[in-house]
Amino acid sequence: MEVKLYNTLTKTKDNFIPLNGNEVRIYSCGPTVYSYAHIGNFRAYIFMDTLRRMLKYNGYQLKHVMNITDVGHLESDADEGEDKMEKAARKENKNPYEIANFYSEVFFKDMAKLNIEKPEIIAKATDHIPEMLQFVKEIIDNGYAYETSKGIYFDISKLDKYPVLSNRNIDEQIAGARVDVDPEKRNPYDFALWIKAPENHIMKWDSPWGLSYPGWHIECSAMGRKYLGEQFDIHTGGVDHIPTHHENEIAQSKGACGKIPAKFWMHVEFLQVDGGKMSKSLGNIYTISQLQEKGIEPLAYKLFCFTAHYRTQLNFTFEGAESAQKALNRLREGFVKQESGNETIDEKLIQEYENRFHEAINDDLNLPLAMGIVWEVVRHEKKSKQWADLLLKFDNVLGLDLINSSKYLEEQSNIELPEEIIKLMQKRAEARNNKDWQLSDEIRDELKEKGYIVKDTKEGMTVEKV
Ligand code: AMP
Ligand code: ZN
Repeated sequence: MEVKLYNTLTKTKDNFIPLNGNEVRIYSCGPTVYSYAHIGNFRAYIFMDTLRRMLKYNGYQLKHVMNITDVGHLESDADEGEDKMEKAARKENKNPYEIANFYSEVFFKDMAKLNIEKPEIIAKATDHIPEMLQFVKEIIDNGYAYETSKGIYFDISKLDKYPVLSNRNIDEQIAGARVDVDPEKRNPYDFALWIKAPENHIMKWDSPWGLSYPGWHIECSAMGRKYLGEQFDIHTGGVDHIPTHHENEIAQSKGACGKIPAKFWMHVEFLQVDGGKMSKSLGNIYTISQLQEKGIEPLAYKLFCFTAHYRTQLNFTFEGAESAQKALNRLREGFVKQESGNETIDEKLIQEYENRFHEAINDDLNLPLAMGIVWEVVRHEKKSKQWADLLLKFDNVLGLDLINSSKYLEEQSNIELPEEIIKLMQKRAEARNNKDWQLSDEIRDELKEKGYIVKDTKEGMTVEKV
């Protein structure tokens, strides 16, 4: 079945055919490990995971690289401000390597909680300095770069076209620019390939230009080429990468090898919070652990992300996340019911559902449509193990760990109740013994407010966390 992917480079949904037989080579821009990754970042990695899984569902083999940026990402993507790693190191009174190790570890733990597959190759920037220096050297030798007192800069005027990914008109932007342009730069949009290190910069390496460190963009170009060759199939990132980071990666590859490095450029839209931007000053940046503290499982957040297409903005609210948590539980319950069903379903009907799901995911990862089909299967009134098997097949793409549904449901029914809730339940049992129905109802409402639903069954009182 055809796979169609939206390509930011062509601005159309194109038919995807790998460059090299059955192997798909992908490069994903990974995290800058100076702080905890937030749920917006994880929207990007959930998208990356679903893309991987969809390609595997179609029988492709993957060679997928994700980088870890542990040096050279300055505060602004356009080479201004301080190195994010060094700034965090100073703030936390540690060295930048300790900072990188700490936040990388948390990042991979969160990836595992979200059941995101780890790409085949994880490439840390500081492990690839020689490859980056070589890349810069080739750009200089080909006449696309020059030296200033601050570092080595790429000369965009040497390109046939810049920009190619975004539609922005750089002449207009230059005219309206508020920032002071470095007078040593030949063109305002020239960017740093290599940066001469100030005295107090900790991460720096010997180079033909003295002690210095790589720019963020050259890292991805050099690591991508090392593992995937001069041209590969897909490059992924967030929409914020389009105007600068990816534009500059393309410029660098053209300068060094005369080629645009990837055929498909795929970008995931931003996650918003309460209809606005996530920002520290608004205090609305959440991590996966913070969601867990509020009773939202990481997999429920993953399911939440499937409610919108990756190319549309998604608005995070706690109400939305709580609904996703409930939906995840219903999905598990539905799966368990199908698993123990004994009806026989016509194979043709199963195939029909499978085809519809397959078409949806192959159509530029239309997860909202695919989830609609998943729900039809979960709710199918004829309960059958055949439906459960189909759901497990779908879960190869979703990665919601449906196979362990019973285990999750059991764990939830065994959750330890807080002392306060136990006391309220005891008080309510007493009230019911005393036939004080009014008090019993009041306590039930109080429990509900605290997030617990009480049910009176023949066997006695039960409580469930909502
Ligand atoms: P960074 O660690 O800042 O380099 O970002 C890691 C990834 O998260 C990049 O692919 C960004 O494009 C992406 N990203 C950052 N903020 C958001 C957001 N609010 N929603 C979706 N993706 C984001
Ligand atoms: Zn990158």
